[in-house]
Amino acid sequence: MDHLRTPLRLNVGFIIKESIGYSRVFPFDYNHIHFEPDLDLVKFKGHVEITRTPQGLLVQADLAGLYAGECGRCLKPLRTRLNTKFAELYASSQRHVTESGLILPEDGHIDLEPLAREYLILEIPLNQICKPECKGLCPVCGENRNDVDCGHQQEDIDPRFSVLKNLLSDS
Ligand SMILES: [Zn+2]
Ligand SMILES: [Zn+2]
Repeated sequence: MDHLRTPLRLNVGFIIKESIGYSRVFPFDYNHIHFEPDLDLVKFKGHVEITRTPQGLLVQADLAGLYAGECGRCLKPLRTRLNTKFAELYASSQRHVTESGLILPEDGHIDLEPLAREYLILEIPLNQICKPECKGLCPVCGENRNDVDCGHQQEDIDPRFSVLKNLLSDS
């Protein structure tokens, strides 16, 4: 089960011993993957190519998966495809370390999970909505106005102002 708890941990020790220019591709295909502490993707697929360079190991990743989010207006569950490509160097010694600060661990294993999570999180849309004309939830009764005509007056106010109004009336 170890490979499931750390699905992006790779044994790359043997690549360090290869000559410069050697590369190896590691494919991934998981129905579900959890990135500590808070990111879950399904249908996760992709690959990582690891190349021996004079400075260490160059990791080139191309990863994609579906993220379970929700519509920012009506809260309907939405699956968004996240796709990221990145390249990072795991330096073989301190003197080759890049800005990312990655260095090859002595045990010859690299765990790409924290790195992949950082890149994937950047791909999550900030204000995703289910459709451009989504009417959102009724601020009075909470019904989804795409499904139900609850009959409440549609106030044309920015939802942020209604929060403000509530805050003011509470105090
Ligand atoms: Zn919506
Ligand atoms: Zn209503």
